[in-house]
Amino acid sequence: MSKLEQVSQEIRSCKRCQLHLSRTHAVPGEGSEGAAVMFIGEGPGFHEDKQGRPFVGAAGQFLNELLESIDLQRADVYITNVVKCRPPANRDPLPEEIEACRGYLDRQIESIQPKMVVTLGRFSMARYFPNAKISVIHGRAKKMGGVLYYPMYHPAAALHQPSLRRTVEEDMLRIPELIEQAAQMVESALPAEAQQLKLF
Ligand code: URA
Ligand code: SF4
Repeated sequence: MSKLEQVSQEIRSCKRCQLHLSRTHAVPGEGSEGAAVMFIGEGPGFHEDKQGRPFVGAAGQFLNELLESIDLQRADVYITNVVKCRPPANRDPLPEEIEACRGYLDRQIESIQPKMVVTLGRFSMARYFPNAKISVIHGRAKKMGGVLYYPMYHPAAALHQPSLRRTVEEDMLRIPELIEQAAQMVESALPAEAQQLKLF
């Protein structure tokens, strides 16, 4: 079993936080173990919880369309979330739940070693861009430890707020050129937060 499969297996039976009590299925994530790009959302919703797969509802349909716009299939990338079990009634994940689940995401990133990590929404953004506002930093890549971090609005935000749709589409369209330019990009200073992740 690969390191990534091992992590998925642990997640499926995890009881490290209270979210295990109300889940139907934990949702470890899916995609290519050798993905160059990883997408990190917030947490499973209703359909994800039922199926045990990430981004299979309306936001997932939009994410699929966004990936197609840059000639990528879901199987080419890796898609996961900050918390792997659905918060009841889709409430925001609590800080202690995010903290309990943190090690799984760290291990997923360590084993996939993506060139680029795309954060979808505030909760995954906060890991790499502490205290930043998404309205200010969306679409701006930052290179740390050889990895390009790229914050985007959550696709569900664009479904609720049609004015964001174009922004999300445009931010997605920049990904291929950013991957190409990544090797030449200057490193940002590592924030203390990123150093603590022990990814580097
Ligand atoms: N929203 C998320 O953040 N993640 C999913 O998996 C589905 C919807
Ligand atoms: Fe475990 Fe994460 Fe699920 Fe909590 S959300 S039970 S830490 S897998």
